[in-house]
Amino acid sequence: MDATVKGNQIKITIDFLKENFGDNALDKLFVHMDQRIKRILSRPILDISRIPETAFSQLIVTAEKVFGSKNYRLSRDIGHYLAHKSVPKFYQIFIKLGDPFFVIKRSQSFWKTIHNTGTLVFEATGPNSTTGQFKDFACPQKEFCSLLLGYFGAVCEMCGYTPISVVETKCICEGDDFCEFAISWK
Ligand SMILES: [Zn+2]
Repeated sequence: MDATVKGNQIKITIDFLKENFGDNALDKLFVHMDQRIKRILSRPILDISRIPETAFSQLIVTAEKVFGSKNYRLSRDIGHYLAHKSVPKFYQIFIKLGDPFFVIKRSQSFWKTIHNTGTLVFEATGPNSTTGQFKDFACPQKEFCSLLLGYFGAVCEMCGYTPISVVETKCICEGDDFCEFAISWK
């Protein structure tokens, strides 16, 4: 099974890069990319297309390398933007209920509509906090972990809360068995 991601995630990421770094942002990244990935990203991408996960991964990693500053801040900003643009209408109802845990817990089913590898399982650790485990993803990268942190922070904000702490406490990329995210809000 090839690891894939839904086309809309790539389209939204490209929109973000163009908004922030100009219409030729993608051309600046292509210089640093494999020919195969460049070809995939140059073609028209439909929202519902299944695109190789490696293309999404290389897009984020290269954007961080070319446009990023430090601490994977850009990847985090991309995750924040993706949450605002792609959390579907269905979840807006839960967002109106204003419970970040309720929405974050549902990220695990939302994830499966977007990616065909990786699992994301959250448990409540208090009234305003949750911890999640992320594993079995085909393209683990620090940039991607930061993207998820940005996503979870955005969910807290969308529910009307301020994220207090959105951190990764374990990471596959640093030798742990899984990535672990600890999120709290007020
Ligand atoms: Zn990680």
